[in-house]
Amino acid sequence: MNTKRCTQCHEAKPLDQFHRRLAGSEARQAECQSCGRDRAARYNATHRPSINANQRQWRASHRELFQAAQARYRARHPELAKARTDRWRSRNRVRLALAELVNRVVLTVGYVRAQIRQHTSLRANEVTPAMIRARRLQIMVSRDLAAWGF
Ligand SMILES: [Zn+2]
Repeated sequence: MNTKRCTQCHEAKPLDQFHRRLAGSEARQAECQSCGRDRAARYNATHRPSINANQRQWRASHRELFQAAQARYRARHPELAKARTDRWRSRNRVRLALAELVNRVVLTVGYVRAQIRQHTSLRANEVTPAMIRARRLQIMVSRDLAAWGF
């Protein structure tokens, strides 16, 4: 079998342990895949803050692309997506409780939509703006009535 010597770990390894490239010696990378992974891990560890900032900026300026990619991922891996969501929720309980409080007071679209979905079998994309306006009014009226002791 053809082997190649890695320029990093200096071990002779089978060619399939080197990533392909278009030109160069045997059209393979000079470093083996294992050394490439180690190098990427070292880079990620030392550059994590700027990598995160760049990713946040990309997601903010490509919001629709990002959301579509997330929807595709959730459709392909529903159980992994649910596990990830559950993990995030359990790590962000205080943040979620605060947001819930604000949403309850302000009656945000997301909060009202969730209220509608609790009492119907509608999916999120089936809740119309008119339903949200009507339910918001209903919540406000029932709060007023409760405040007046009705
Ligand atoms: Zn190597």
